[in-house]
Amino acid sequence: MTGLTAAELSAKLQSREISAQEAAEAHFDRIETIDGDYGAYLLLCREEAMKQAEAAQAMLDAGDAPALCGIPYALKDNIVTKGITTTCASKVLEGWVPPYSASVYQQMQNQGMVLLGKTNLDEFAMGTSTENSAYQLTRCPWDPHCSPGGSSGGSAAAVSAELAPISFGSDTGGSVRQPASLCGVVGFKPTYGRISRYGLVAFASSLDQIGPFGRTVEDTSLAFEAVAGHDRHDSTSLPNAAYSSKELKSGSLKGLKMAIPKELFGDEVDPGVKEVFERGIKKLQAEGAIVSIVSLPSLQLGVTTYYIIAPAEASSNLGRYDGIRFGPRIEEGDHNKSTAMTRGQLFGHEVKLRIMVGTYALSAGYYDAYYHRAQQVRGLMADEMAEVMKEHDVIISPTSPVSSFRLEDDSLDQMALKMLDLCTIPANMGGFPSISIPCGADNDMPVGLLLTGPVMGDEKLLQAAWAAEQALGFVGRRPPIL
Ligand code: GLN
Repeated sequence: MTGLTAAELSAKLQSREISAQEAAEAHFDRIETIDGDYGAYLLLCREEAMKQAEAAQAMLDAGDAPALCGIPYALKDNIVTKGITTTCASKVLEGWVPPYSASVYQQMQNQGMVLLGKTNLDEFAMGTSTENSAYQLTRCPWDPHCSPGGSSGGSAAAVSAELAPISFGSDTGGSVRQPASLCGVVGFKPTYGRISRYGLVAFASSLDQIGPFGRTVEDTSLAFEAVAGHDRHDSTSLPNAAYSSKELKSGSLKGLKMAIPKELFGDEVDPGVKEVFERGIKKLQAEGAIVSIVSLPSLQLGVTTYYIIAPAEASSNLGRYDGIRFGPRIEEGDHNKSTAMTRGQLFGHEVKLRIMVGTYALSAGYYDAYYHRAQQVRGLMADEMAEVMKEHDVIISPTSPVSSFRLEDDSLDQMALKMLDLCTIPANMGGFPSISIPCGADNDMPVGLLLTGPVMGDEKLLQAAWAAEQALGFVGRRPPIL
């Protein structure tokens, strides 16, 4: 049962060939058997899940239930769940039980979807390998010595290892698409504002967006449909945010104009990844896609620009963790000392680094030189991309310059890891929808293809991704797990 896609599982649930309880149990059984080897989940919520499954079954029995009613799923542990611990993989939030639910979680409960558990991530979603989690390592299902990518590594690994048919992560600079690429699954970051951020713990609010994972574009589209829509609790939520999967399979590559920015396909890209990407492009061309190379010079500045804007916003957002409002507090005499001790000891290294960089970039005297400049470059990047999208349907590139890399590899320092965000960052800068689909494999390790479309072009982008998925023929290839 765990090998079925969400669409297949849904058909069986709707026809009542299987029950929502059976679907949940099958996933818990597999998680208990193999997740010890992968560490995708930080927390399982079995008791709550069985209650949700029972409610789902009642909806299914009554007839006319929503498409994903009874479907089990996982949430990245920076999406708040009322009554269920939410840690952001940080010691600062250890044991924190939220008094409210994220809008996405509420929406999925309303549709009878069944939450299996919360998945591992880099602390506060800051990272590219999930190694910055304060709690555990997560391993790539294709090779347990390797990283699943990050920061939503747990959500990507869970879907890849068939520990959930769908899951959700958050994407600030690539954290849904890059782990999807490394784990051989589909990961989608919608247009900024199509999925509510209410209850997503803020990292860099102007870039953050929740996004779904699936083993197929169809499942990813169904998961997006379940949570897309305007939300009055999120001031950046778009008015016409709802989405329907109905037209997904009308997608075709015939005459579809695709642009490859040469700045995302230079020496940074590993030769093995290049080869897989080029082979993929040939398959798309064979189905009628028209591929051209373009130049978007500002994209070269994406990584440096992002690593000013994201830490700047993070330094402000993370000011709320003082040990009083949330999580544990280290008492050290007076108030200021206690707050300093709490933050100093309970935040991890990478988080502290970013708070310092961000505070510096925003401070009087440096604001213009760093933050203001970065915002100007951000505008330039968005404009250049929007301009190319007037003449082309999608911008494409590899999702990540490399396939999965070894865990705890000393040759990859934090700077090298940051360079891996080259291809994914541009979409966040302009709020563009962007999706990673498996393109092929290099030495049995998956390589992702990234497709990015114009703002509010999510429908067409997903159609293009669906058509590309058919042409690439990776669907059905699973990691070597029993
Ligand atoms: N790797 C990027 C970072 O470390 C992106 C993270 C994300 O999208 N949450 O900030």
